Amino acid sequence: MSDGAATQRSESGDSDRMELTDAEWKQRLTPERYAVLRQKGTEPAWSGELLHVEGSGTFTCGGCGAALFSSDTKFESGSGWPSFTEALAEGTVEEHHDRSFGMVRTEITCARCGGHLGHVFPDGPAPTGQRYCVNSLSIDFEPEPT
Ligand SMILES: [Zn+2]
Repeated sequence: MSDGAATQRSESGDSDRMELTDAEWKQRLTPERYAVLRQKGTEPAWSGELLHVEGSGTFTCGGCGAALFSSDTKFESGSGWPSFTEALAEGTVEEHHDRSFGMVRTEITCARCGGHLGHVFPDGPAPTGQRYCVNSLSIDFEPEPT
């Protein structure tokens, strides 16, 4: 009765979940990245290497490499963190209500590996009105080939 379901390959796209143990994450990530991605830390404002990037390209998850944001939606928010008006595609970023520090905020995580990215606030510019406030440590930038 179990024939047919056995051919599970994970080549079929980016939606496959990536689940590692804590020890595996520690091995894979720098201590700075581990503290943000896996322990929901926040880097100091204005410290991020990806606050300003040249050219267009894609921002990918620092944990698993999933494509998360396009440079087309990046804007200067003045907050000191890389900010975007929307995720690259539906389902790439997950939102969670976060009541830590006495505030109600919406945490954003990578849908594939669960890595902490930052928060989303409803005070962004048009057209979405959203501000995805992302730790530079949580993401990498892949420039488009020119
Ligand atoms: Zn990820």
